[in-house]
Amino acid sequence: MDIKSLIREISDFPKKGVAYKDITPLLMNPNAMNQVVELLLEKLPHRNIDKVVGIESRGFFFGTLLAQKLNAGFIPVRKPGKLPYKTHTETYELEYGIDSLEIHEDAIEKGEKILLHDDVLATGGTAAATSRLIEKCGGEIVQCNFLVELEFLNGMDRLRRFNNFSLIKYS
Ligand code: AMP
Repeated sequence: MDIKSLIREISDFPKKGVAYKDITPLLMNPNAMNQVVELLLEKLPHRNIDKVVGIESRGFFFGTLLAQKLNAGFIPVRKPGKLPYKTHTETYELEYGIDSLEIHEDAIEKGEKILLHDDVLATGGTAAATSRLIEKCGGEIVQCNFLVELEFLNGMDRLRRFNNFSLIKYS
């Protein structure tokens, strides 16, 4: 199945100049969803993973499916003010301004093996901030994986310390 054909590009969303990768057609296709999960699992260095960290909000879709298949826990990393318990916070730069992400303080135990997952890697700021949250909690990142990588934004440069994989690339 051609997974890329199930990713719809929306020009100038959410603002002018952005080519938004809309994965909702893919989410409506259970065979393609399964295939994505299997392809991502194949590229893991090993399957000894304790927890999968998914980034709000589209990192939750495949993040939870991956966690189930790995018999691992799932941890949501969320925008400020969404998580109810005590949190760690990391701030990162956007094109205009800054934003933050949070994780529950007790989500990860020291030394746990973690898979970081998000739908789209663009500039890498979001994933890099999430990697810092994971390390603050004492987690060891086994891999950062993404459904889509926008190669021309060089997001992987910010994740050079880690093992990384993206399934679909746009150059
Ligand atoms: P960045 O921090 O620049 O790597 O941006 C990554 C985050 O923004 C991810 O959580 C994506 O879901 C979202 N994102 C960035 N660019 C796009 C895009 N062109 N299409 C869809 N989502 C995007």
